[in-house]
Amino acid sequence: MPNFVDTSPPGQCIFCRIVSGEIPAAKVYEDALAVAFMDIGQVNPGHVLVATKRHAVTLLDLTQEECAAVMQTAQRIAQAIGREFDPAGLTLLQANGREGGQTVFHFHMHVVPRHAEDGVGLSWPRKEPPVALLRDYAERLRAKLPV
Ligand code: AMP
Ligand code: ZN
Repeated sequence: MPNFVDTSPPGQCIFCRIVSGEIPAAKVYEDALAVAFMDIGQVNPGHVLVATKRHAVTLLDLTQEECAAVMQTAQRIAQAIGREFDPAGLTLLQANGREGGQTVFHFHMHVVPRHAEDGVGLSWPRKEPPVALLRDYAERLRAKLPV
């Protein structure tokens, strides 16, 4: 298993404190399982975070219901962003673990409006291995799928 690190006790991390209302956030939407609020960094205007209400660190810690709630909320937010900010594109980004780019260790997904040459980048070093290796990877993963 990856060495995902949770740096805060449950209930005391920055996003738990936003969920509880202990610290302010510009909330857009909430339901029983998910909350959406403006990212303080605003990579582009309209940049929203969709977080679980429950303290869960990574994707691997979510229930199926939380997974569904987060994605449904992300789509609703994307629809609102499209109507209000009319971006040329939209990127979902969800980071897990320090090495995965996560800096706040309470599950969240970025919904980022995108524009031409907006300076957002992710290095993507393609390896393009032979097909036999792809089949080997697929077989190994099929054997490890949860039932
Ligand atoms: P990540 O690097 O994917 O873990 O993203 C963490 C995000 O949380 C960053 O984009 C921060 O700008 C954002 N963030 C941190 N603190 C707050 C806060 N108090 N309110 C809103 N967004 C925050
Ligand atoms: Zn938390």
